[in-house]
Amino acid sequence: MTTQRLVGDPVPLGDRRSGRVPVQPANAALDYRRQARARGLRKALLDAVSVLMVVVPVAIFLAQGNAALFTSLAGGLLGLGMLSGLVATALLCQMLLLAARIPFVDDTLGQDRALIRHRKLNTSMISLLIMHALLLLAGYAAQAGTNVVTEFLGLWPVRDFVLAVASMALFAVVGLSSAAAARARLSHEVWWMIHLVSYLAVLVSIPHQFSLGGMFAQGAARWYWAAMFLVAFFCLLCFRVFLPIFNSLDHRLTVTTVEPAGRDAVSISLRGEHMGQLGLRAGQYFGFRFLAPGLWWHEHPFSTSSTVRDDGSFRITVQAAGAGTRALMRVRPGTPVLVEGPYGMFSDRARTREAVVLLGAGSGIGPIRALLESTGIVPGRAMVVLRAAHPGALYLYDEIRALCQARGVRLVTMVGHRARSRGAAAWTSADHAGTHLADLAPWVRDADVYVCGPDGFMDAVLVDARMAGVPGKQLHHERFSW
Ligand SMILES: Cc1cc2nc3c(=O)[nH]c(=O)nc-3n(C[C@H](O)[C@H](O)[C@H](O)COP(=O)(O)OP(=O)(O)OC[C@H]3O[C@@H](n4cnc5c(N)ncnc54)[C@H](O)[C@@H]3O)c2cc1C
Repeated sequence: MTTQRLVGDPVPLGDRRSGRVPVQPANAALDYRRQARARGLRKALLDAVSVLMVVVPVAIFLAQGNAALFTSLAGGLLGLGMLSGLVATALLCQMLLLAARIPFVDDTLGQDRALIRHRKLNTSMISLLIMHALLLLAGYAAQAGTNVVTEFLGLWPVRDFVLAVASMALFAVVGLSSAAAARARLSHEVWWMIHLVSYLAVLVSIPHQFSLGGMFAQGAARWYWAAMFLVAFFCLLCFRVFLPIFNSLDHRLTVTTVEPAGRDAVSISLRGEHMGQLGLRAGQYFGFRFLAPGLWWHEHPFSTSSTVRDDGSFRITVQAAGAGTRALMRVRPGTPVLVEGPYGMFSDRARTREAVVLLGAGSGIGPIRALLESTGIVPGRAMVVLRAAHPGALYLYDEIRALCQARGVRLVTMVGHRARSRGAAAWTSADHAGTHLADLAPWVRDADVYVCGPDGFMDAVLVDARMAGVPGKQLHHERFSW
């Protein structure tokens, strides 16, 4: 009888003494393609839902006979103002859903791509909200033969209008703090606290949507609009608050060992109860809160650097990047840990092909090691590239070398300063100047490429992979920046 292993199940490490390499099931490539097709379908479904969320309120607007507004200038301004408000609110609810870390969304887009969508929608949403306010005031002014300021002051005594203005002001604060230049100056914690204000901004904007304008005053339209907000807030509470609390209480994770993993990094092993139920895939990440003095008040995302062992333990590898991670170097065994996750598509679940190239630099080496341990490998069609500025930053090198030997994977290490290519910094080291991915793995076009590390390194690898003809859906990356 043969045992069939499903795609994504951990692959045994193999017997290092006999040198036997685990054999990939013959149908693995087929399964990876099937997995990619299923993910493509889920993505199409999500795209359809996001289009529908915009189309439905516009259809309600038209069904209520509002097209007639466009027969006069004042009516046209009011109509456009209403439409921009409707679309802005639909986009806002999509942003809430993308931030809610709904497992279906995470499994389909990955958390970082969901957040990229969230940020892109933010710009359109804020622009539409400003248009909404200005166009409506201009429309009322044109109708009454007054001006925008008179109309604003005339509406000021209306409570729901005041709340709507307050909501705009709060959105402006959040929007400004999210701008790249401002984010670079704010600590992650301060930015996060300001971001919480956006939920208040949404809440105080809700009353005027039902009372002013009359579109959602009654009937099915009212129920649809209310349901949209209820679903968004339910998902946020459920997946961002209750599920993490439940998981942390249920799995009771504690630190078991802390070991050096390089000059400025440690590997922290954690063990929890019935970890199989958590659905963790090697390479995914959690938000961790270590319940020790000086550490409990900040949460940090870290990727797993191993699979889950039979005893319910797994490992993360942490590089000292700032004050919080430096303090973590001294965390003690026995420390309880709260977790939010697992999140992300940087795992076997993103595989689409039987060949694979794994590239890691700095703290990005941790999830690369986890993937190397767990993902399907066809000897001769797999390569690991480790990149470090100095030998002390080749984290987990001995383990990775042993895994590569056991699994028949080619290992390339590049240490030292970055080479330059056509005037720009390349991803390779200076002693590999002019080397491209396609030189190291001529079959890379038909491989999944996973890359994790500093932004500059990842961006240069992604450019090189695209130049080698690797399609976007075969490129997988996890950004450690926020
Ligand atoms: C999805 C993901 C997975 C990660 N996995 C790992 C890993 O496996 N190993 C590892 O060493 N590092 C990992 N990181 C990076 C790690 O989370 C940050 O280096 C750490 O949170 C910095 O905290 P700090 O207080 O030491 O640094 P700070 O002094 O606060 O800042 C140092 C740098 O880290 C950034 N940073 C701070 N807090 C966060 C946060 N909550 N989220 C993201 N960036 C932050 C800051 O913007 C700054 O660039 C990961 C980051 C992300 C987003």
